[in-house]
Amino acid sequence: MGCDRAEFPCDHHGETVARRTENATLGGSVARSLLIHLLGILLFSALGSVLSKRVGVGAAIGAFTGAGVAALVILVVRIVILRPPSQDASCSIDIGEKHAFGGFVVSDPYDGPGEYVRAQLHVHTENSPNGKWSLEEAIAHYRRLGYSFLAVTDHGRVTVREATNYDGLLVIPGEENTIEYPFWPLGQHIMRLFVSSHVSCGRAQERIDSCALEGGIVCIPHPSWPGNLGTGRWTEGHLRAIDGYKLIEVRNLHSDEGLDESIWHAVLVDRMPENPVWAVAVDDARCAEESGMGWIEVKVTDISSEALKEALVAGRFYATTGPRCRFGVRGGSIYARVDRPCLIRFVNRDAVIVHEIDRATEATYTPCFDDGFVRVVVKDTDGKRGWSQPFAILPCPSVKQTQ
Ligand SMILES: [Zn+2]
Repeated sequence: MGCDRAEFPCDHHGETVARRTENATLGGSVARSLLIHLLGILLFSALGSVLSKRVGVGAAIGAFTGAGVAALVILVVRIVILRPPSQDASCSIDIGEKHAFGGFVVSDPYDGPGEYVRAQLHVHTENSPNGKWSLEEAIAHYRRLGYSFLAVTDHGRVTVREATNYDGLLVIPGEENTIEYPFWPLGQHIMRLFVSSHVSCGRAQERIDSCALEGGIVCIPHPSWPGNLGTGRWTEGHLRAIDGYKLIEVRNLHSDEGLDESIWHAVLVDRMPENPVWAVAVDDARCAEESGMGWIEVKVTDISSEALKEALVAGRFYATTGPRCRFGVRGGSIYARVDRPCLIRFVNRDAVIVHEIDRATEATYTPCFDDGFVRVVVKDTDGKRGWSQPFAILPCPSVKQTQ
């Protein structure tokens, strides 16, 4: 399935997208092309007729010559100047993490070695307000659930100073940091992962930069969270004004999934393909009852802090609240496979659902160059969801530059 557009209410945006089938697109393009040719020929024909009168040649000869010149000029312009990227046959095929097909490449964040394991990047203990369990209880619980990574992210403090392996579960240090505004305790939060010290002052960008200096990774938590009297919300404008964060939550107990996904999409439109921001699902749990609701499945080569960090930076993971998925690129098409019947949707940069199939366990979509990027969302019959990272559609010259 590829390049078709259908009329679906896009449930992340509440907007209806235009029906545009492949045939309709082709038909529209041919009609437009013919119209341009006709207008050009008529224009040159009239011009030739007027000029021919001035130089004393017959109007018919002038019009005929003008029409011929017009046809030639349009032909040259179309072939030499307006050649679409898909007609560029100079691309090589399959170059590492990108796959080239017909003049553009589909970047695959999942292309790389490793096995998928479970990771939880947002959990509180009794060291946070309302935290109902100890660090040991939280670790034992997530180990029982089969997680391989757990980031402990208490409010305003780093609970674990360095990554520690607790019998197969690697606990990553981190904190949920409040950017006090207009005054404590109000303001937005950021997740600072892989850090060893708390920061208590500075604007958002300074706190993100300090995390990067420590070799850490910043995640934007619960973007649409209405808490802290509304000062905790991250709008698209806020996220446009800062830089250096790699992750954003699309599922958090305290936030609206649909809104968060819309905000993530807007961030991608701004930053793709150079500076992608990857989606994560989290628990933000304060007790066992709040756990197992959202997590990531991350493809790592081993259970180490370095392997997790590398995979998080590369986007080699997906977010889920239930479905176990596999996403990737094969033969120029983006594929999704799930462990249960799901509604599988492919969404492009314009937030158009370019392909969807219901109650399926696999689906593929062959992107068009105009898609910009494509991401996949799956939803099972219980409403549990999974989100792929975006697959960037890049023109061929980008491939040559990255080689
Ligand atoms: Zn939290």
